[in-house]
Amino acid sequence: KREFDVQSIRADFPILSDKVNGQDLVYLDNGATSQKPQMVIDAIDDYYQHTNSNVHRGAHALSDKATQLFEEAREKVQHFINASCREEIIWTRGTTEAINLVAQTWGRENITQGDEVIVSTLEHHSNIVPWQILCQSVGAILKPINVKANGELDLAHYKTLLSEKTKLVAIGHISNALGVINPVKEIIDLAHSLGAKVLVDGAQAAPHLMIDVRELDCDFYAFSGHKMFAPTGIGVLYGKQEILESMPPWHGGGEMIEKVSFDGTTFNKLPYKFEAGTPNIEGSIALGAAIDYLEQFDRRELAQYEHELIEYATEKAKTIPEMRIVGSDCNKTSVLSFVLEGFHSADVGMILDQQGIAVRTGHHCAMPLMDALGLNGTIRASFSFYNTKAEVDRLFAGLEKAKTFLM
Ligand code: PMP
Repeated sequence: KREFDVQSIRADFPILSDKVNGQDLVYLDNGATSQKPQMVIDAIDDYYQHTNSNVHRGAHALSDKATQLFEEAREKVQHFINASCREEIIWTRGTTEAINLVAQTWGRENITQGDEVIVSTLEHHSNIVPWQILCQSVGAILKPINVKANGELDLAHYKTLLSEKTKLVAIGHISNALGVINPVKEIIDLAHSLGAKVLVDGAQAAPHLMIDVRELDCDFYAFSGHKMFAPTGIGVLYGKQEILESMPPWHGGGEMIEKVSFDGTTFNKLPYKFEAGTPNIEGSIALGAAIDYLEQFDRRELAQYEHELIEYATEKAKTIPEMRIVGSDCNKTSVLSFVLEGFHSADVGMILDQQGIAVRTGHHCAMPLMDALGLNGTIRASFSFYNTKAEVDRLFAGLEKAKTFLM
């Protein structure tokens, strides 16, 4: 394994040596999207220079090469999340599309009038709205698990919501707004004990945790490439093979069919049944390259380093009396989500931006969570293993400046 050295890692990410607003970039918006290492950028470049062709056509050598790289990437994803077989890996545009796929296929087939779907209050909108749309159209009921004031899910409340009527629990592995890690294994086991299926939104987990879908025993797992050092426009839906087999297709078109006639059409086998149309070939290959990049390292070392960064930032927070961290005493990843009492988050974000410091402010696509916590938004600094303590120092110096300026 490659030794962990933050400076050599930073050298892998070209954008990190750029200047923004005349200052050295401090990129602390990794929760929104991660930066890309040269290895991933090269994979895209190389694909268009030496491979570009359509896949699964078997027409010529280039097409065979594209197909081979595309399918190898699928196998990398399979191993990355420890799925049982490649048929369980469906390419999507991202987490959002993966969740909508499940809602519109498995959901429409298995959820009817009076059934219940459980989500949590801290979900990203993309793990709420697809279920609202489904429930409204079939007459089912959507029930949110309460969140405690510290940002943890209220498991006692979850147990009261679960019943024979529960058909599905859709739960985030890690909250994007707070970084809180949810006890998904416990949530899954409880749901299964009542016969409900579970979808895990792993958008924020894939870049930070080692994911093992077989150990979790989740029925579906969704994540996006762009948050784990790959490009936008590519993501993954994992589903247990027997469940995917039982589901009707979603989009119709090329690739997803076996035989088409006006008397009736038969569908392709997994995973192609859910991959209508020409896929994002370079995106899949580049996601494979991002996995290769990560797997050079002992990933526990990356996580340990991120943990040190967040501990350091949390300690520094004590020097700013106005700073209130949301979710500080929870089991969480490297996210510092906070309010500065007396200051508007958006104003603070703007002044940080002028200093080349990128954070996200606002509701983080989790409006129900903000409502539940009585906040109209937070400032979120989300760290990756390429960030440094010196950058944490820049953030805090930037916050002091913002306070002086906005006072
Ligand atoms: N779920 C969570 C927890 C997220 O953080 C995000 C992205 N912010 C999404 C879902 C949606 O991902 P995408 O926009 O890549 O589809």
